[in-house]
Amino acid sequence: MVQELQIVADPTPLVKAARLSQELGVELYIKRDDLAGPTFGGNKSRQLEYYFGDALANQADTILITGAVQSNFARLAAAIAKTQGMHAIVQLEERVADKPELYRTSGNVLLSSLLGAEIMSYPDGEDEAGADAALQARAAELQKAGRTPYVIHLSEDHPPLGALGYVDAAHEIMAQSHDFDTYVVASGSGSTHAGLLAGLRGAGSAAKVIGSCVRRGAEAQGPRIRRIINRLTHLYPEAANVTDGDIIVWDDALAPGYGKLGPKSKDAMLRMARTEGLHLDPVYTAKSFAAVLAHVESGAIPSGSRVCFVHTGGLAALFAYHHELANLI
Ligand SMILES: *Cc1c(COP(=O)(O)O)cnc(C)c1O
Repeated sequence: MVQELQIVADPTPLVKAARLSQELGVELYIKRDDLAGPTFGGNKSRQLEYYFGDALANQADTILITGAVQSNFARLAAAIAKTQGMHAIVQLEERVADKPELYRTSGNVLLSSLLGAEIMSYPDGEDEAGADAALQARAAELQKAGRTPYVIHLSEDHPPLGALGYVDAAHEIMAQSHDFDTYVVASGSGSTHAGLLAGLRGAGSAAKVIGSCVRRGAEAQGPRIRRIINRLTHLYPEAANVTDGDIIVWDDALAPGYGKLGPKSKDAMLRMARTEGLHLDPVYTAKSFAAVLAHVESGAIPSGSRVCFVHTGGLAALFAYHHELANLI
C-alpha cells in the first residue's frame, strides 16, 4: 500500500489559451501545474506527495534529495520538509557547464537556502548512481548519529513513486475536461511523462502524449520511459495498457543541451509571454511548449485539435538565467 501526503489540495486550473488557440488554429488548454504546491509550485509537488507519504510512513526526520544546481525538485522538497517539521539536505550536481555566479546563487538555490535546506554539492552531473551513492553515504552518517533519513533517489533502480503523482494528474484532467486529442509535456527524469501516459490509458483515454526531451536525446529517452512504465505496473497495474507505440518523444528543442537555451526555447518563451501573459521556464517548459509550436507548424498536430499543454512550473529558475534571457530583450 503506497502512502500519500496531500500537498496539492485542489485540482490545478485547466485554462483555455484563447489568443494562442486563435493564432495556432487549435483548441489549446494549459494545465497550470506551475501553481501546484508551495514556494512557486511545479510538477514535483505531485511527485513529492508519494515520496513524503513514504518518508512519513518510515518515521523519517530528514529528507535527502539530489538534482541540478537549479533543481525545482530540491526547492519543493525543502519547503515540504519544513511543513512536516523535517530537515532537508539537497545535493546540487554540476550538470550545466559555463554558468555565471547568479546561476549558483539565485533562483532555486536562493529559495532552498531561505527554506533552511542544508546544501551539499556533487561534482558530476551525468552520474545518477554516483549522486545517489553520495546521498546514501550522507544518510548512513545521519543514521549513525541517531537520525532517520529518507533518500529520494535519482537513478532508475527504485520504485517510480513520483510517476504516481502524474497518474493522479491524468485522472484530474480527465475529470476537468473530457480528454484531449494530444497532450504535450516535458520529459526529463521521465516520471511526469510516464505517469501522465499511464494514467491517461488507465482512465480510458487514447490521446497522443508527446514528451519533449529536456535531458537526453529521443533514442535514450524513449527506452527510459518504457522502463519506468514497466516498473510502474507494480504500483499501478493499468500502466500495462501502454504500448510501445504510445511512447512519443521529440528532441528537436533539446540542443544545446540540458539547462541551456536554444532558439526554439527562446521563441517559445517570448510567444507565451507576449500572447498569453504567462511565463515559461528556461530549462523545461520552454522546450515543452516549443514542441507544441513545432507540431502545429508541421501539421503533426492537425488544425482544430484539442491540445493540452502541461505547464510543469520551474519559474523560480527564471532569475538565475538573467544572463541568457537579457539577450532576448
Ligand atoms: C523536473 C521538471 C520537469 C520534468 O519532470 P520529470 O518528471 O523529471 O520528467 C518538467 N518541468 C519542470 C519545471 C521540472 O522541474
